[in-house]
Amino acid sequence: MKKKYSIIIVSPENAKTPRQIEFTLTVKKILISCAALFLLAVSLLAAANVIQAAYIKGVQQKIAYNEALEKEIEAKKLEIERLNGITALINADLQAIAEYESEINSVLEMPSTGGAAGISRGGSGRLEAPVAGSLDEAAAHVAAYARSMKEIYSASLAFNEALRHLPTIYPTRNGVFSSGYGYRSNPFGGGYSEFHDGVDFSCPVGSPVYAVAAGTVTSSSYEGGWGYKVTISHGNGISTLYAHNSRNLAQVGTVVDKGDVIAYSGNSGRSTGAHLHFGASVNGVSVNPLSFYD
Ligand SMILES: [Zn+2]
Repeated sequence: MKKKYSIIIVSPENAKTPRQIEFTLTVKKILISCAALFLLAVSLLAAANVIQAAYIKGVQQKIAYNEALEKEIEAKKLEIERLNGITALINADLQAIAEYESEINSVLEMPSTGGAAGISRGGSGRLEAPVAGSLDEAAAHVAAYARSMKEIYSASLAFNEALRHLPTIYPTRNGVFSSGYGYRSNPFGGGYSEFHDGVDFSCPVGSPVYAVAAGTVTSSSYEGGWGYKVTISHGNGISTLYAHNSRNLAQVGTVVDKGDVIAYSGNSGRSTGAHLHFGASVNGVSVNPLSFYD
């Protein structure tokens, strides 16, 4: 005998008669299977929904990341443009430095090697510094110029030291030029000419006599026709002589600087009046002292 099942549907209002639906075991199994399938479908849909939500979230994150990357790329592009602008400015400055470097080398009479960064003359004859293509190259050029500036600084110190030992100032500030270098008629008369081994400056007795360059005092004495005289060796074979002084201040062996007062002018020795006689020699050979001031 087939088992039978029934479902009784009761209305909440007692007015209606309850309904009874009868079904067999097979129908019951089908109903349970349907319910199970329904539950399975709902579960699968729920799982698919969760997976899809996670996927969408991932895609959204990727989109946001890509948008951020695009913004970053734009910012980097702007930064690269700015850096290129800086490189161009540095190149302009390097060109200016190269031109000054060349001028300084010329003034200091340094061998022109084209500078550490390799300056060269372009087709127009204009000095041209190598152009840096990047900030890295610009930094390398700047470093090369820094080394070059150090060499120029050393050369300028040597130049300054050499200049200090060259006559560039006059031995008197109040003297008036009164007699030149070379043959002249004897100021003491007699009608014959004599060689004037220096130049004369007429000045009152007691006027300060200045060392015309740095050097070492090689004599300070009274000597016949010169009267009181001082001689100074300036190096490089150059010597100067200051004669007819009223008084010598410098002592032999004293190192003097350019502009130091070494004596007071006078009229001592073979002299026709108050004046300073200023002589010079190079490697022991008499030269016109004024030739240093050309
Ligand atoms: Zn003289």
